[in-house]
Amino acid sequence: MATTSARPLHEITLLSQAERFKGRPKLCSDCGVCGGELRPAMARSCVFVHNQHETLELRLHGRNRRDGDELLFGIYRAIHVIRLRPVNPQAQWSGVVTALGALLLEQGLVDGVITTRAVPGTRWAPLPFLARTPAEVIASAGNKPCLSPNLEVLDEVRACGLKRLAFIGTGCQVHALRALEAELGLERLYVIGIPCTDNTAYPDLMRFLKVVSKSPETVVHHEFMQDFRVHLRHEDGHIEKVNFVDLDVGTLGGERGIFPPACLSCFDYQNGLSDLTIGYMGAPLPPEERWQWTLVRTERGEELFNLIRPCLELGQPTQGGNRRPGMRAYVRMLRRPPRRPPAPVRKFVAWMQRSRGTKGLEFARGVIEMKLMRNLVYVRDQHARLERRIVPGYVYRALADVADVYEEEFGRPLTPP
Ligand SMILES: Cc1cc2nc3c(=O)[nH]c(=O)nc-3n(C[C@H](O)[C@H](O)[C@H](O)COP(=O)(O)OP(=O)(O)OC[C@H]3O[C@@H](n4cnc5c(N)ncnc54)[C@H](O)[C@@H]3O)c2cc1C
Ligand code: SF4
Ligand code: SF4
Repeated sequence: MATTSARPLHEITLLSQAERFKGRPKLCSDCGVCGGELRPAMARSCVFVHNQHETLELRLHGRNRRDGDELLFGIYRAIHVIRLRPVNPQAQWSGVVTALGALLLEQGLVDGVITTRAVPGTRWAPLPFLARTPAEVIASAGNKPCLSPNLEVLDEVRACGLKRLAFIGTGCQVHALRALEAELGLERLYVIGIPCTDNTAYPDLMRFLKVVSKSPETVVHHEFMQDFRVHLRHEDGHIEKVNFVDLDVGTLGGERGIFPPACLSCFDYQNGLSDLTIGYMGAPLPPEERWQWTLVRTERGEELFNLIRPCLELGQPTQGGNRRPGMRAYVRMLRRPPRRPPAPVRKFVAWMQRSRGTKGLEFARGVIEMKLMRNLVYVRDQHARLERRIVPGYVYRALADVADVYEEEFGRPLTPP
């Protein structure tokens, strides 16, 4: 099977989906395993060959997810609303992730941190690397929201004999890392997870920005916000806000035209196998206050949280609204996608979402649930034979509330026999 492995990382992340996945399995998020020496380990680590989430969860926690929030958020010991003090203005949110990576190096707890900077000359193309100094980690702040082969850096880790490592990455990467952890010869591994959904190949991100923004080349930061709008910050500091309902995904070939098949078959938005996950979606707004949320999952996650705690301000988790009616409507919409409504209707919907929509933790629950359902529908539609291997059991439990609407609309049970 041909791979892209001969190419250096800074070239790989610039490739289109077609070039990048040539010769790869149908479902691949380019986590980095197959680009280097770890490639023979693909079959036993790839989340798209065999999703071992529940087995790995059992190994990590001694149990699987309990009913309730864990079905959506993954197993956790604590949830905190947090903000780095002072906020790092170069960071994606307040900069907790990179501050934590830097602190691990500063305190001599690790000898290297796998993190992701931008390919020189680009703002958004990811280039994973092994940071050896706190300054290098801090300089990697900010999202490069494209597929990034972070695990390929493990070749360098092994080559330099490094034994104590921190890894910052997405759920598909962390799945493979956990599956291989015992074989890596590491004495200590800290896994800092970021939530991740709907990732793209770099050229598709550029297409997306062109459609969304009036001035795509001056966008320096963007995020899908909890107020149901994409916020795009420009070089001059002004913020362009685009309602989710106004995003013209049709121009991009729909979701399936822009997101890789792997990301549409992904069921670990919240990075459930990390030691702690640091994101933003369950945190309160306004975005200028840069609140984030963290799910502390393991004992090592508690160690990480205690390490960064003196640098943090703690906020209050909040929640509002009710995701359930929207979720039922969403299942119907997946079955019968409506035509794009006219502008005044979209304006009204956007207003309703902002004023009456879900907030805080309930927003996070709603978004995760929708992605689980959308991806289950995608897998059944496009990769039906893989369902048993790649859809973990908690997905059906998490979606049980809408099993009746699913059955009504799709004419089959939600849970496989
Ligand atoms: C594609 C993508 C989608 C995301 N979607 C969500 C979401 O829906 N909900 C949510 O709550 N959070 C999401 N996040 C995470 C969120 O946007 C922030 O990265 C997180 O809150 C950390 O913010 P920070 O200020 O602490 O990070 P910073 O201190 O700015 O550090 C960011 C870290 O992210 C790493 N990173 C950047 N790009 C990538 C990449 N492509 N792959 C792997 N690692 C990378 C960098 O190495 C750096 O260590 C997403 C991140 C990415 C990359
Ligand atoms: S997702 Fe990772 S392990 Fe799976 S095929 Fe792609 S590179 Fe290989
Ligand atoms: S959406 Fe899932 S498969 Fe795609 S990069 Fe993110 S964690 Fe990996």
